[in-house]
Amino acid sequence: MSQQDIYKMQDPTTEFYHDKFSKQSQPAPAIQSKMQPIPDCGETSYKGSNKLAGRKALVTGGDSGIGRAAAIAYAREGADVAINYLPAEQSDAEEVANIIKSEGRNAVLIPGDLSDEGFNKQMVDEAYQKLGGLDILALVAGKQQATDGILNISTEQMRKTYEINVFSLFWTIKAALSYLPKGASIITTSSIQGYQPSAILIDYASTKGAITTFSKALAKELAPKGIRVNIVAPGPIWTPLQVCGGQLQEDLPEFGTDTPLGRAGQPVELSSLYVFLASQESSYVTAEVFGVTGGNHCP
Ligand code: NAD
Ligand code: MG
Repeated sequence: MSQQDIYKMQDPTTEFYHDKFSKQSQPAPAIQSKMQPIPDCGETSYKGSNKLAGRKALVTGGDSGIGRAAAIAYAREGADVAINYLPAEQSDAEEVANIIKSEGRNAVLIPGDLSDEGFNKQMVDEAYQKLGGLDILALVAGKQQATDGILNISTEQMRKTYEINVFSLFWTIKAALSYLPKGASIITTSSIQGYQPSAILIDYASTKGAITTFSKALAKELAPKGIRVNIVAPGPIWTPLQVCGGQLQEDLPEFGTDTPLGRAGQPVELSSLYVFLASQESSYVTAEVFGVTGGNHCP
């Protein structure tokens, strides 16, 4: 976590960590507080300005990485926030809850497995009841397991990756639709992998393509109902996903250095985009993809 002023004009190539990463590995799901360096999710830097006053947000994958950056920013912008994560990530989730509460906002913790259809509905119902409403869905959770070739991808891995990355969107959004008022916003999380897929990520990359298409079609269905749907497509961002099998170990030191900006991104560099897409400032924006890629662009 850096202490820097993210609002000051400065050179983006050196603004955040830009050395090599040390090799490190954790079992999935990796715990953010055990990473070296710890990803910057805006804990000490993101400042809000009431863009989401009174709003009620559910953020999946909200314990760490990009989802954590969104959850912290939403709370600083005045929203009450429920986060979902896996039970093994309780310690990361509690750190986020403490930050949300220190902003004077309501924090709701909903651990559970998104590959379980029934849990998705349970999560949405609980978020709605405990927040007293629901008008932002930031669907950020995802599974990424690098594998050396299609012959080494098991049916179980293929199925889980699709269940967590794609089916959970389908289940969560179906469960949430009756709660979402006009003005609500749904944000899904694709990847540059959906546009420029790597050989080692056939399963993951194809889910990210599916997320984009799913979200664009949904945006067209929901636009007349006053609900917007947009897609964030990150490039290489330093998060727990990368140290528990998302990248091959040998590739970790150079992670992100093949971008034009020459370094990996930090989750806080996506905070304002998740806020913009959730807020009324993006009232004429729906069915769009926003890349945050360090210059390798989507598509
Ligand atoms: P992360 O590990 O911090 O977040 C992923 C989260 O997914 C975990 O915290 C976990 O809570 C959740 N998750 C995984 N399996 C789950 C399950 N079965 N049930 C419930 N929750 C589950 O890593 P991140 O990089 O911040 O990932 C967030 C999103 O960003 C993912 O969708 C990922 O595909 C996407 N993304 C990340 C990058 C990157 O370089 N980090 C690039 C493109 C896209
Ligand atoms: Mg996590």
